Amino acid sequence: MTKVTAFLSLFGNAVPQYLINKNYPLPKVSVFYHTIKSNTEPFTKGLYRTITPLQFEKDLDYLLHHFGNRFELSFDDGLSSCAEVAAPILKRKGIQATFFLNTAFIDNKELFYRYKAALIIHACSANPSIQQKVEQQIKKKVVDYVYQVSYRNRHELDGLAQDAEVDFNAYLKQHKPYLNTSQIQKLLADGFNIGAHSIDHPPFFELQEVDQIYQIETSMNWLTERFNLSYKYFSFPFTDWGLSARLFHYIYEKHLVDATWGCAGIKHELFPQHTQRIALDAGYKNAAHAIKTEYLYYQLKRPFNKNTIQRI
Ligand SMILES: [Zn+2]
Repeated sequence: MTKVTAFLSLFGNAVPQYLINKNYPLPKVSVFYHTIKSNTEPFTKGLYRTITPLQFEKDLDYLLHHFGNRFELSFDDGLSSCAEVAAPILKRKGIQATFFLNTAFIDNKELFYRYKAALIIHACSANPSIQQKVEQQIKKKVVDYVYQVSYRNRHELDGLAQDAEVDFNAYLKQHKPYLNTSQIQKLLADGFNIGAHSIDHPPFFELQEVDQIYQIETSMNWLTERFNLSYKYFSFPFTDWGLSARLFHYIYEKHLVDATWGCAGIKHELFPQHTQRIALDAGYKNAAHAIKTEYLYYQLKRPFNKNTIQRI
């Protein structure tokens, strides 16, 4: 959530719903989550809010009531809670969703580097002597350090984990944070869609274009072949901010993807295949609050023609 959006969120609930329904300028509202669970798992702490099943149902009822079939729902990061908690609720309510997966993480083979950072912080906060040992190593506060470790330097987190006495492989084995193959097959059999979310979740704006294409093409092809998909859906990890128009032209023209998703809120795009989504777990109280705040933001930017994302 940006500072401006955070400020506007104070007024979000003041926007009457009828204004949104009456004047809503987009053919659909696209929203997404990461995890639905009754308890927060330590690897997601500081990254996004865990939505409880009860809150999730309330959000869905709001979306169904106000937007009917004009909303679409997706989940990023491929967590096992998608199959265990979210999918049964969606099935009961007859709601379609797309689950975007990182191909390197399926079947709990590897852990997202930001989850590693969160687990290191968790281990330090549970044990002051471990925290001391880690901070002696990095000469900084652990919370200030680990989230600053870039994708390129992510191997540093494996070294710090040893100091923090965290075993990522054991964590993956014991807690199984990610979807496994049979859960994914079950989601498909239940009529849900799946898409790719890159190989291992790099921030694309830190990559060269050739590596951006590699991440998209490799993950998309792997998923399509592995699960025999008839479509190619891709959501950009972190953000699609700063990505060039050339990249979008290339991936559509070469049929590397059929459709793509970002997470910039309510925005128009130059490419009809690309949809921006609202993150419903980014700090808003609930779906109504998120949509009203984003809508307010959208309306305030309208006179300045700032609602279409510019790409060069
Ligand atoms: Zn993600």
